[in-house]
Amino acid sequence: MASRDFDLFVIGGGSGGVRAARMAAARGARVGMAESGRMGGTCVNVGCIPKKLYSYGAHYAEAFAESAGYGWRIAQAPTLDWATLKAHRAREITRLNDIYEGLMTNAKVLRLQAHGRLIDAHTVEVVTDDGGAQRHTARHILIATGGRPFVPEFPGSELAVTSDDMFDLPAFPRRLLVVGGGYIGCEMASIFHGLGAQVTLVYRGEQILRGFDEEVRVFTADEMRKAGVDLRVNSDVARIEPAADGTRQVTLKNGDTLTADVVLYATGRRANVEGLGLPAVGVRQAAHGAIEVDEHFTTSVPSVYALGDVVGRLELTPVALAEAMVLVDRLFGPEPGKPARQMDYDNIPTAVFTHPPIGTVGLSEQQARERFGAIQVFRSDFKPLKHTLSGSSERTLVKLIVDAATDRVVGLHMVGQDAGEIVQGFAVALKCGATKAQFDATIGIHPTSAEEFVTLRTPAR
Ligand code: NDP
Repeated sequence: MASRDFDLFVIGGGSGGVRAARMAAARGARVGMAESGRMGGTCVNVGCIPKKLYSYGAHYAEAFAESAGYGWRIAQAPTLDWATLKAHRAREITRLNDIYEGLMTNAKVLRLQAHGRLIDAHTVEVVTDDGGAQRHTARHILIATGGRPFVPEFPGSELAVTSDDMFDLPAFPRRLLVVGGGYIGCEMASIFHGLGAQVTLVYRGEQILRGFDEEVRVFTADEMRKAGVDLRVNSDVARIEPAADGTRQVTLKNGDTLTADVVLYATGRRANVEGLGLPAVGVRQAAHGAIEVDEHFTTSVPSVYALGDVVGRLELTPVALAEAMVLVDRLFGPEPGKPARQMDYDNIPTAVFTHPPIGTVGLSEQQARERFGAIQVFRSDFKPLKHTLSGSSERTLVKLIVDAATDRVVGLHMVGQDAGEIVQGFAVALKCGATKAQFDATIGIHPTSAEEFVTLRTPAR
């Protein structure tokens, strides 16, 4: 075999790319990485991490309001200093960027601050900001370039911002219009509402959060409305016009008009493939540019691989991390004494950080009914203990879906405080194939909301 510069060359320094580079280097591979932006990708820079920080920030609003019921007297109405929040977020993200850089240095990965482009099946050209270009050869090339927000074209679409822009808006948007009822739209609506904005969310379909359990969708929508988000379904934007005072005049398709300081489009994401030179090398792409891969993350060019958001399967950081480890095991062998990892897309838990948040693992009621026919649904919605004194009218939903034939719990859903934290633990139980009888045999932790999952006795359906 021809001698090449690297065993693995990774394009993209996000969650998947960094994990693959680091793990491959730990197996003794010579690894290069090109990233043209800041290390950490979407998750660290404009996704999970800043989003969760702002969500924490937003939850203080409820805490201030609810503390009165517990006897606290707050002398002055609290106000948000947007500049401070932004500065503290920026400092934390820089710290994480540095940690990611350090991971590459410590793993002896050659990290290039450059844009990578495929030249042929084993060659990558890297171009730095000042235009300098170099070519590197590699036995394997991994594309882990992630995704970017997608905004449909319509009159005034250039006036919309995306989730990439939201964390660093120069001025806090007092009136925010969010378009899209998916993860990002719903999270941003809740977060900016909590931070003090007047938020309208416009969604084109019947109910937000398509794909989630129907009851979870309805419950979350109700809670968001109760909290004060103006949520409008069967509604879409016709056009956006700029006003002289810098605001946006938005006309909806039903003729209604709105004034907003910022219009956020959260209408999905597309594979980040521009300038990668994929067609020239013969890397096949699916609709909207996503790179086609087989079950081993191999593209139509056998030495080129892709994983994470750029393949558009499940756009979640932990999925990209898992995919990266599966690929490295396959290319460079598993860790000593351990079997090669396999990717399993069943029972992947996920959370939506709405206020209140959603945690979910396994099948929705509808999916379970289709797959198993006979199912039992156990559910409870209640006022959490905390809110007996807080004065909040927020409720919590917990729900279990059980396959009647085997008694296995095949779906578990929660809408309520800490749902993500709680469902992570239960995801292990589902992964182990836990039955409803085993849930029932588990002693609850009292008093918690999570104990409801092990005390659901009578099926609702
Ligand atoms: P989603 O696909 O989740 O949601 C997109 C939303 O925009 C849907 O409501 C969709 O409607 C709507 N939409 C799409 N196209 C148009 C259009 N042309 N006009 C009007 N509305 C439109 O994408 P997101 O951008 O919210 O998030 C992308 C992915 O990122 C998520 O799927 C998720 O995998 C990941 N993510 C995960 C998070 C987490 O784990 N907490 C947080 C944020 C993102 P419809 O339903 O009718 O198609």
